[in-house]
Amino acid sequence: MTKRAVVCGAGGFIGSHLVQRLVDDGYWVRGVDIKHPEWTASPAHEFVVADLREPQAATAALNGDIHEVYQLAADMGGMGFIHNAETQIMHNSMLINLNVVEAAATAGVERYFLASSVCVYRDMELGEAELTEEDAYPAAPDNEYGWEKLYAERAVASYAREHGFEPRIARFQNCYGPEGTWNGGREKAPAALSRKIAESVDGTIEVWGDGSAVRSFVYIEDLVDGVRRLVDSDVRSPTNIGTREYVSVEQLVGLVAETAGKEITPVWVPGPVGVQNRNFSNDRIESLGYEPRFDLAAGLAETYPWIAGQVASSNG
Ligand code: NAD
Repeated sequence: MTKRAVVCGAGGFIGSHLVQRLVDDGYWVRGVDIKHPEWTASPAHEFVVADLREPQAATAALNGDIHEVYQLAADMGGMGFIHNAETQIMHNSMLINLNVVEAAATAGVERYFLASSVCVYRDMELGEAELTEEDAYPAAPDNEYGWEKLYAERAVASYAREHGFEPRIARFQNCYGPEGTWNGGREKAPAALSRKIAESVDGTIEVWGDGSAVRSFVYIEDLVDGVRRLVDSDVRSPTNIGTREYVSVEQLVGLVAETAGKEITPVWVPGPVGVQNRNFSNDRIESLGYEPRFDLAAGLAETYPWIAGQVASSNG
């Protein structure tokens, strides 16, 4: 029997790649989003444009005999957006998450996937040992985006207990790749740095902070693979998906510049950097056979040319 999935957020970066993967895996897929994907037409069998802040829209989006729901819709962006749009994130993403999980429970779906984030974790000191998924409590996320995700996780877990569906919750590390947001204020560090380096004429770029913040970045194909493995597994508790490769922002600038084949000098300027350090266990997702295929250099080799191409075509 063909499995039927609904992907909420199918017009976005990760959602659109996930739809492609589900179609490749033989699923019948309905994509739902407030907008169509920006770069290529959705490969979904059906695409519904709907505002999931409306309960009726969420109910309609999940009609028919749906086996799996992938909930990725969110009011979402990089650190600049997260710090400047707190109430927008709290209001919109919370409505979306509550409406979709309620509609899924009413529709009687079998499995419900939620895209959460490592923003649910507290800040860390440099050199601190890995945090496991359980270390999200006692909770101390650095920003409201993280608190909203934590609430959404708890909403999914409680609906699952009461309604008997299978919950799957992934905490994504920073994800990057072609067809991700690269301008407009919602872009994340790898895309923002790629754009700035592609645009730089004098060999300098402005970068927020002092370059010492530590992050890891997961390439889109690897992340989507992790999602599929998690959903197919019997792991019901939140699961980190990312890589074990950690770099400072200064090293990230160097890697993007190397990929671009440009000499770049960063000019450090004040800006919303977020937490100082990250270091998460990937043991749980790796126990499901997950192994990232792209290190940062390989992922940037796919991503930078795509962003440089966007910059070139927007300039001329
Ligand atoms: P994205 O912004 O590209 O995708 C989110 C999609 O949700 C967008 O297409 C947007 O139009 C849609 N959406 C927003 N409001 C909506 C509404 N009211 N009704 C219907 N659709 C609506 O972001 P992404 O990077 O693809 O992220 C997908 C999910 O993964 C999000 O939940 C995000 O919080 C989570 N996540 C992403 C990252 C990352 O690095 N990209 C990291 C951690 C967690």
